Amino acid sequence: MYIIFLGAPEAGKGTQAANVAHQLNLVHSATGDMFRQAVEQGTELGMQVKSYMEKGVLVPDELTIHMVLERMSAPDCQPGVILDGFPRNIKQAEALDEALARQAKAIDVVVYIKVSEEEILRRLSGRWICRQCQTPYHSQNSPPRVWGKCDQCGGELYQRPDDTVEIIKKRLQVYFAQTAPLISYYTQAGKLLEVDGEGGVDEVGRRVILALRGVVTR
Ligand code: AMP
Repeated sequence: MYIIFLGAPEAGKGTQAANVAHQLNLVHSATGDMFRQAVEQGTELGMQVKSYMEKGVLVPDELTIHMVLERMSAPDCQPGVILDGFPRNIKQAEALDEALARQAKAIDVVVYIKVSEEEILRRLSGRWICRQCQTPYHSQNSPPRVWGKCDQCGGELYQRPDDTVEIIKKRLQVYFAQTAPLISYYTQAGKLLEVDGEGGVDEVGRRVILALRGVVTR
């Protein structure tokens, strides 16, 4: 089972992808998390991708495609993968289709979480994340019990360096120019499931599960 989660920054795709991966017992592959981890660990990949991430632009396709396909070839990914943040443009989508086709496999479905631009801007500017366990918080919608500390593990909360107004604007521009065309790409392939991403996490989660029901039991 190969499921892609597609949506603008902060549409909630990471949370929903993690939830579906947990329910289906599949690996959750989040490219943004993989890149951030590489940067924190100071690996060669981390050094190569840091400046792109800081500017809010996409990391070059060769690096990204190589990293994701390598991850997908690991034994724990053989039953399938939940892809979150990949593909991010048509070239990546085509590379993924070709790599899967070589193994007589294909993407089963693409869950597109749709949220208005206004709501995305509101969500992005209040976002805080636990440095240790990555649990997300929002200063207005879901604040932690103790300011600056994670409810789950007590870890320190931080704002992603690419969550400043300027970089957020850039990331949104990149999304609309490069990633949004994937909506037509997967619609034409008959694979797109659109889910309304406005509302609480649980409410959106129920919509995602309902939308996936027919596909997952197929
Ligand atoms: P995210 O956590 O998904 O918002 O990703 C954070 C940053 O990582 C993006 O702004 C890009 O710089 C980089 N990134 C994540 N996924 C991709 C991808 N599929 N292609 C290129 N760059 C990516």
